[in-house]
Amino acid sequence: MNNVLIAEETDKEERMTGFDVAGKKISVIGAARSGISIAGLLQAHGARVFVSDAGPNEQLARSAEALAALGVAYETGGHTDRLYDADMIVLSPGVPSDAPSVRESLRRNIDVVSEIEAASWFCPAPIIAITGTNGKTTTTTLVGRMLHDGKVKHAVAGNIGTAFSSVVQELDSESVAVLEVSSFQLDHVRTFRPHISVILNITPDHLDRYQGSFERYAESKMRVAQGQTAQDILLYNADDEMLRRMMERSRSLIVKAVPFGLARPSGDGAWIENGVLVTSLGGRREEIVRTEEMTLRGIHNLYNAMAATLAAQLSGVRPASLRATLRNFKGVEHRLEFVRELEGVKYVNDSKATNIDSVWYALQAYTEPLVLLLGGRDKGNDYARIADLVRKHVTTVIAIGESAGKVATSFSGIVPVQVAASMKEAVERARRSAKRGDIVLLSPACASFDWFDNYEHRGRVFKELVQSL
Ligand code: ADP
Repeated sequence: MNNVLIAEETDKEERMTGFDVAGKKISVIGAARSGISIAGLLQAHGARVFVSDAGPNEQLARSAEALAALGVAYETGGHTDRLYDADMIVLSPGVPSDAPSVRESLRRNIDVVSEIEAASWFCPAPIIAITGTNGKTTTTTLVGRMLHDGKVKHAVAGNIGTAFSSVVQELDSESVAVLEVSSFQLDHVRTFRPHISVILNITPDHLDRYQGSFERYAESKMRVAQGQTAQDILLYNADDEMLRRMMERSRSLIVKAVPFGLARPSGDGAWIENGVLVTSLGGRREEIVRTEEMTLRGIHNLYNAMAATLAAQLSGVRPASLRATLRNFKGVEHRLEFVRELEGVKYVNDSKATNIDSVWYALQAYTEPLVLLLGGRDKGNDYARIADLVRKHVTTVIAIGESAGKVATSFSGIVPVQVAASMKEAVERARRSAKRGDIVLLSPACASFDWFDNYEHRGRVFKELVQSL
């Protein structure tokens, strides 16, 4: 990999980056696609693999077939003691750290690792690992696009849809693995060592899985850098308060950190200067792109763009190529996605905004008056955090989903609120409320499972309704 990092002398010990699995008994929890691919990979390296999934047999018939074809032993429909007859247990990405089987494994003192950890033992390529509360998919996709346009061989994987273990075999030491990494996967890493790690932000979300503790959640994010050595680099958002605090606390553990933020840092980093995205690496300054030329909207996307630019530049992509990508990149579906303009009103789908923080950024992203579709399955939202922004930017709130009542109570007296009993009614009400020059924005701050299968489904239904107006 042709990067501009210069290795530094350090006392820090080179960490173990591999684990010899030959002959070891390894159980994999979860028999969906990622579970099957890590099982295959471990078996190919000589492990004695057993896969266990508590899901109903009928739903797992396809998985069972795939495992049988690989010659991997498995059980479905429940976990038996055989699961725990193992030297090590590997978790599929969807298995939460507090699942009973995980607790039982730990109680029995069996080492539990995540799928990205296990896959990383066999990855010959340097890794770019991207984590944070929000922006992971956008930034990971953008890095992938930058490497593609810059002609750097790479694979994009992780939480983004393709399991890391399923791409490891396509990679070599000349290519780059670009990974979107969730905090659940980071809960169980040991030697996972990204050459470049990125932490975009740390704000409250999923606290239910961390015993309600923001600190614990933040610590899991910081683990993305725990295996890094002096040859590696951590890119972090210097404007994020919690992240700054965590950096301060982990200073002795982090070897090389480079910030990005709106203000110019004292050394290397990325920042915005007179409307231009600027980087400095190894003391070399580059003006990458005028921010008004970028298609992505909002401050949050400036952070995503700065992080992606640094990661790609460190991987050898030239500034001219980065500029072209940033001008062309239109973002990812369901994230402030422009749908259509009708009667002078623009419709935007931000169905992926499943927490308050994402909505906070969405409201910042536009200067036009907004008609905001808000609500769904509430994860304990404190709407007071966006009250000022709503007062400033929003002309009407259309309350949707299970939490419509809470949304209506939270915003009554701030802006006019209408309650809709379906997405169709919400879109029709929005059309009637919006004036020429307004934006109708679906940015619900909630999960989608009240009315929909998932946020993609919610976004697609919204788009279809908008297209049919
Ligand atoms: P993730 O993969 O971390 O969930 P996405 O890229 O899918 O992140 O974006 C999720 C939501 O967060 C979208 O509504 C998007 O507009 C918003 N968002 C994207 N980047 C950021 C950021 N850096 N800070 C805050 N919100 C963001």
